[in-house]
Amino acid sequence: MDRSHKVDISGLLAGSRQLMMVADEVSLEPFEGLVFPQPVAVKLELRQADRMLAVEGSVDAHVHGQCDGCLEDVELELHLDLDERLDPSHGRDVEPFGESNVLTGDRLDVADLAQQSVLSALPMGLRCSAECRGLCSICGSNRNTSECSCHSA
Ligand SMILES: [Zn+2]
Ligand SMILES: [Zn+2]
Repeated sequence: MDRSHKVDISGLLAGSRQLMMVADEVSLEPFEGLVFPQPVAVKLELRQADRMLAVEGSVDAHVHGQCDGCLEDVELELHLDLDERLDPSHGRDVEPFGESNVLTGDRLDVADLAQQSVLSALPMGLRCSAECRGLCSICGSNRNTSECSCHSA
């Protein structure tokens, strides 16, 4: 990540602006075997609400990985709707971004926000389909595409 994705929200917090629109694209690092071949598209509407920073918007990501069962490639489209309240004065204590630098002072880190949102929404194990039959434990062939002659125990 060489570009800065930090947004200055001081104007919002000071009340001189009502609304900020943010549209950004963020490249994410691979995560536990999952890769993000294209930048994640982030669209945000920021406003101040009761001295909190209200973040609404969406994050769209393409995820590539391997099926846990049969090891075939799996592509996943993630669409996340965001509706969060961040506390500018206690950014570190606010869930769901507790241990993060999403909001530090009057800087919102869009890259961090995108990464945390996507990582928290990823499924625990990718599956090519709910009916994936996995690999034969004896010969290792893909039981979705081939019938091997092994006898199941
Ligand atoms: Zn599979
Ligand atoms: Zn087999």
